[in-house]
Amino acid sequence: MILDGHIHIGNGPEDRADFVQRLQSSGVAGGVLLSPPPANFSGALNTASPHDRIEKALFWGDAAPNLYPFYWIDPTETDALKQVDLALEKGILGFKVICSDHYPGDPRAMRTYQAIADAGKPILFHSGILWDGKPSSQFNRPGNFEALLDVKGLRFALAHISWPWTDECIAVLGKLQAAMRRNSRDVEMFIDTTPGTPPIYRRDVLTRLFTVGYNVEENVFFGVDSSANEYNTEYARGWIERDRAIFEEIGLDKTIIKNVFAENLKRFLGIAE
Ligand SMILES: [Zn+2]
Repeated sequence: MILDGHIHIGNGPEDRADFVQRLQSSGVAGGVLLSPPPANFSGALNTASPHDRIEKALFWGDAAPNLYPFYWIDPTETDALKQVDLALEKGILGFKVICSDHYPGDPRAMRTYQAIADAGKPILFHSGILWDGKPSSQFNRPGNFEALLDVKGLRFALAHISWPWTDECIAVLGKLQAAMRRNSRDVEMFIDTTPGTPPIYRRDVLTRLFTVGYNVEENVFFGVDSSANEYNTEYARGWIERDRAIFEEIGLDKTIIKNVFAENLKRFLGIAE
């Protein structure tokens, strides 16, 4: 089974049957659906209300089994805690955050993360360079996410292996795991391998990630970064084949490959058996 941990919901066709068909022809059994963005990303004029963005994620999430709707929240908004409550009430299974104009450890955001962690739900963060047309890279360096160590019980993922700061991302994973042992913290970090990394860097970065010697096998999951509206079958297949070939070349155990493509995402979601 292959799950895609990173599917955006954008503008465009809303044909759920076509979406499910495209997933099937990509060999993908389901995945995480990210609601349309908040105003800090899309601009106030283009932004639907929290209610409508939540409903949109649920609409797509209903298309088939194994689809997990996430709500893309601006954790610094004054009513962010209310938005978390509303999302949970409606059946949202996780949250997406892009730090486009605030640091990951912004005190306003930390309150929101704690509420999400208290509900046992995960957060998928963008990390790495952000193509938003504005100066924003300083907010998305992986080292800044160390602040999340103070969010008790949090499960979070850094997307794109923080491209181009992939080594820094891997080091942060090592640091967090060490912090858990040293200070009995209960924060768990995952890496979402969604590209990001252009194909010529892929072998290099996956080799480093899986041979660095940290405990990565259960904390890495796969994603494509396509959209539900027009899921790109060819693009998805290309990344699945490329990654699988690299994993086999590195000599990763079959079980580890299986986990990276599906089971680890379920652990991130908190639904693993
Ligand atoms: Zn994305």
